[in-house]
Order: sequence, then C-alpha cells, then structure tokens
Amino acid sequence: MRIRTAFAIAVAATAAAGPSLAQMPAPPFATTKVEGTDNVYIFRYGNHQAMFVVTKAGVIATDPISYGRPQAAKTYVAEIQKITKAPIKYLIYSHHHYDHIAGGKPFKEAGARVVAHRRAKERLVALKGLDVVIPDEVVDGKRIISLGGTTLELHFTGRNHSDSSLVMLLPKEKIIFAVDFNSLGAVPSRLAINDSYPIEWEASLKRTLALKWDRMIPGHPGPGGRLGTRADMEQQLAFLTDLSAEVKKASDAGKCFSPADTELKLPKYTTLLNYEQNLSWNVHRWCGYWGRGI
Ligand SMILES: [Zn+2]
Repeated sequence: MRIRTAFAIAVAATAAAGPSLAQMPAPPFATTKVEGTDNVYIFRYGNHQAMFVVTKAGVIATDPISYGRPQAAKTYVAEIQKITKAPIKYLIYSHHHYDHIAGGKPFKEAGARVVAHRRAKERLVALKGLDVVIPDEVVDGKRIISLGGTTLELHFTGRNHSDSSLVMLLPKEKIIFAVDFNSLGAVPSRLAINDSYPIEWEASLKRTLALKWDRMIPGHPGPGGRLGTRADMEQQLAFLTDLSAEVKKASDAGKCFSPADTELKLPKYTTLLNYEQNLSWNVHRWCGYWGRGI
C-alpha cells in the first residue's frame, strides 16, 4: 500500500502513462532468512511481502501477494522449492484484502490447505474475486499449527485495519507476521484506514502487544527493509489513541467532517512518515466514527 521505493514509484509512474504490461520491467523479488532463526523466511515481491516457515515435515506459507500479477505466486513457490523439497502444507491468509491474498492457486496445486479467519472466508465467498482461492479451514479466536517441530499460533486480536486480520506468532522465535494494521513509523495510508474499525483497532493493538513477541514481519517492507518492533506498535497505538481523542473533541464542536479534516493537527506526530499526506484521511475516518456513528 505504501509506495516507498524509487522502483515502485517508477513503476507507478510508468503505469500511469499507460504502457502495456509487457513493457513493464519485471518487478524485483527477494527471499531472505530472518536473522537469528533457523527456518523463518520473508518472500518479498515488489512492495508486498509474506512470511514462510520451512520444517522437515513441510512448509507453512502465508499470503500469496499476487493481486494482478500471477507470476508473483509462481515465483514464491519456486523460491520455496529452491530451499526445500518438502511439501507446502499450509497457506495462511493474513486478512481478506486481495493485494495480500490473491493468487493462491499454485500453493493449492502444491497441496496446501488454505487457512483464514472465518470472516475472511465469508467475505471472499461473497466477493467471488478473480484468482482468489477460498479457504479450506477457518479460525475464530485462536488456532495452533504444529508442523515438523515448529509451532505457529494464529490469533484473532479483534477488528482493526480489517475485520479478518490474523496475527501469526512463532512463540519460540518471538516473531509475529502482522499485516496492514501497524504502519512502521508512519501515519496509516488512505488504503490502510479505508475499511477500518476505529476504537476496535486500538483495542486490537493492545491485545497484539499482550502477546509475547520481539520482532514483527510487516506485509509491506518497513523503512530500509527493517522489521517492526514493539516500540513501533506502541507508537501506532499512541497515534491512534490521540487521533481519536482529538477527533472526538472536534466532532462534539461540530467540526466533522469539515473543517476538522483540514484543520486538525497532531504536532506530536509530525516526524512520522507521511504525516502531511495522510493525516487528513485519518481525521476523515475517525470523524465518520465519532460524528456519524459509521
Ligand atoms: Zn489490507
């Protein structure tokens, strides 16, 4: 969602100019092992990424990240198969948004069972999106997957950026894969807040912080490709909490949507990335909540 790299900006600019897909440069991808782990990897394709875990008994993969680019999932499977010949047993969706979960077919064909939150399946069944594999299994509150000596916990910590987000926790490694509801050092983008749940989002961050983890793999590369920290999530929670309190005041003063969406400022957070370009979208969303109950 957040386009940061020069490459992505170049691709976006080229796309806006309207060339055919054939003229587009092949997007770069990378597979990296997470430092300090034996078997946890990140597959990045363009500006999206997913975690996968390799065990002797098979692979647990997440998010195919292939919306509008089926070659991404094929590349992802090929990258896994360069590391191991063990079968891909699971494909787990972080939430139901297509930019993260479209393109699961090559995983399904490799034998993976597709797992997602119950609400994600309900939405995907109703939406009938192109190139979207419907989950085989659903999770409500919590599910533990054990495979080849690795334990992966799936937690629903409440509605946040979506109503179907699963936090994937590797308890031994103290790593989580959490997508789109914690913008590392940044003000959430328009797309990050478009389909979001004010108040519940803050509660979800608190529940996620209550889990035992040190590092977070985000669904979009962090600044400089870094992983997320608990401090990032605490900062996101503080930002949303202060945003919510200020918008509530503005709403009670009759200032929602306008002029709050242009006038309201949060000076404590001006150093966050994308503060200038994204703040008004956040104010607009929370204005909808406090001002109109939506
Ligand atoms: Zn999303």
